[in-house]
Amino acid sequence: MDSSPRPADAWRLQGPYVAARPPSSLSFSLACRRLAAALAFVPMLAFGQPSVDAELAATREMVRFVPGEALRRLGGIEAAARRAPVATRAEFLFLYSDAFRRAGDPRQALALADELVGHGRSQGNDTVLAKGELARSYALTALNDLPGAHVAAFESERRAAGIADIALRVQTIITAGQAFQEQGNYPAALPKFQAAVDLARTIEDDQVPLSMALNGLVLLLTDMRQYDKGWEVQAESMALAKRMRSRGRQAIALLSEYGLAMDSAQYDRARAALLETLKVVRQLGARQMEAATLANLADSYLKDREYPRAADYAQQAVAAATAVNETKYLAVARINLGQAYLNMGRVAEGRQQFEAGLALYEKGRNLPQLQVVLAEYGNALERAGDYRNAISAYHRERAISNELFAAQRQKAMLELQHKYDTEKKQRQIEALRQENRVKGAELDNRRLQQRIWWLLAVVFALAAVIVGLLYRKVRQANAQLEVKNLELKQQSTLDPLTSLYNRRHFQDFMRTHALAERRQQAAAGDELVGALFLLDVDHFKHINDSHGHAAGDAVLKTIAAGLRDTLRETDMIVRWGGEEFLAFLPAVPRCGLDEVARRILRGVSSQAIAYGDKTLRVNVSVGFAPYPLAPGGTPLSWERAVNLVDMALYMAKSHGRNRAYGIHGFNGLERTTLEAIEQDLEGAWRNGFVDMAVVQDEAAAAEAQSAPVAELPGMAA
Ligand code: GH3
Ligand code: MG
Ligand code: MG
Repeated sequence: MDSSPRPADAWRLQGPYVAARPPSSLSFSLACRRLAAALAFVPMLAFGQPSVDAELAATREMVRFVPGEALRRLGGIEAAARRAPVATRAEFLFLYSDAFRRAGDPRQALALADELVGHGRSQGNDTVLAKGELARSYALTALNDLPGAHVAAFESERRAAGIADIALRVQTIITAGQAFQEQGNYPAALPKFQAAVDLARTIEDDQVPLSMALNGLVLLLTDMRQYDKGWEVQAESMALAKRMRSRGRQAIALLSEYGLAMDSAQYDRARAALLETLKVVRQLGARQMEAATLANLADSYLKDREYPRAADYAQQAVAAATAVNETKYLAVARINLGQAYLNMGRVAEGRQQFEAGLALYEKGRNLPQLQVVLAEYGNALERAGDYRNAISAYHRERAISNELFAAQRQKAMLELQHKYDTEKKQRQIEALRQENRVKGAELDNRRLQQRIWWLLAVVFALAAVIVGLLYRKVRQANAQLEVKNLELKQQSTLDPLTSLYNRRHFQDFMRTHALAERRQQAAAGDELVGALFLLDVDHFKHINDSHGHAAGDAVLKTIAAGLRDTLRETDMIVRWGGEEFLAFLPAVPRCGLDEVARRILRGVSSQAIAYGDKTLRVNVSVGFAPYPLAPGGTPLSWERAVNLVDMALYMAKSHGRNRAYGIHGFNGLERTTLEAIEQDLEGAWRNGFVDMAVVQDEAAAAEAQSAPVAELPGMAA
């Protein structure tokens, strides 16, 4: 369907629409290019009973070039349109906003755009949102808020990505491309316009989107100074506009051609395009466009120094702009007119026009533009010879320059301050982070230390338990050893049959205790003495023979027990030999020795020893002496003392048994020797060298005489 010629090479196409912004006399061609994008053809309206939708369709292209008329018509259907379904209401708000913007009321345009976005949000409708953001982007551009306009443009494109309305999608892509173009980001802008052209070619029943896309691409290529490619696309764009039989589209294409021709330094072609544009916009009745075109023509003749003709077109531009209340073009037209007059030597009129134009810029607070114009003004005045005013213009220009510089410096300061604050905050955050890290490490350390302490504590506790257990075991072992030692000692010191001390123990005792005993005795005085008693069972052999060895053992045990009763606990009783016992009494009154001997005799003989069905009775013979024995003052060794006691015992035996013989003392030692006494005690006694006591248990003796024990035939001789 699309038979329009395409560029020969493979590079891709795109298209724009740009919201008009205030042009200066210097950049007027650019302003007109932007305006050109706004022009479209006037659709044939279906009269009769136009529905709201039909009226909207009729107004759609009208908005672009006769916004005043469009506003009037849209106002007429406002009430009905606001009650209409979502799609209709959205289209109405979009066109109404656009009409206000083009008619010079961008604030109202923004309010309506915001209302549209609100609708889109509440409905969750992407088509409505895309339209709303698009309208916001146009309104914000008109309000000189380019960053805001760009954000809205990109948001609009994002919202439109999946919608069914392809024409709207093309328009949002073009607008996003223009946003990049205005940011100077041509590499990003180019693919947008190419995509818009491609997508627009897929629409069969509407060529307006393609026309817009191609025109936008021409404007971009002009900015990119890609003039050859620009002319190729321009050719297709122009051909399409003609095919569409749309004066509006032709006017737009012609304005783009003017810009391309100016920028590629083809001034004749530029002027021809402008004159052609003027014809078309006049046919259209597009007064805004006419004002812009006339101002551009004035500019073009100014450049050619054709000042009267320039003044003529500028006057027409002033009239056209005033008629449609178009401040931007009015300002440009008055500046152009002022330039022309000053160059024609009509200084007062020139100044008047310049000042009027400057006032308009001042009102709009467009300082950069104002500065440029003031510089031109100063130059023109200088050329005209009005040096005083030239200097004044120069000072004003400087003042604005300073103001701009101050503003820029202020801005830079604020940016620096902001940057400093941000960095400071960043540093604080980093410091806090560092502190956190350090604290974290400290915490970890402490935890580790705690763990180590716990581990050590456990190890110590375990070690303590183990040591405790070992210690207990050792103590037990020691205790057992002690018991064993005691047992062993007892075994080695005690006689197994009678449990009395054995002879060896007595010998040990005498060896180690002899000195102590003597000292104790000396301290105790003469009254208390030690004593040795030696006992021998009478006729013991006979008991063994008559009743058996076991009976003999029983007798020995009984005698031992009896001796323990008879003597004191402190006295030492020893089994001296087979049926012999030795008693060592450490402290006994010297005069009590005989009594002890008597108690021993009675103790043994009075005991009835039960053995089997028989009762056995025995008696003993005893020899005794005090210990130590010191004949002539010299103490005898314990062995010699025992030997003397043994001799006394022998005397007891030989004198009838069951009696005790005790040595009391020695006399006349100068007439004999101790050895002689030891040889023959009885002889020494008879010679009076020895005092001896003879002790008999009278009761036992009497008893034995009245009822003699049958088993003891030789007793009590
Ligand atoms: P005497 O009155 O003269 O002392 O006459 P005796 O029979 O007691 O004297 P003798 O020395 O001839 O006999 C001692 C006997 O004691 C000889 C021995 O068989 C006996 N005997 C020695 N030790 C033990 C013993 O441990 N148990 C028993 N049953 N008999 C013993
Ligand atoms: Mg004996
Ligand atoms: Mg005996």
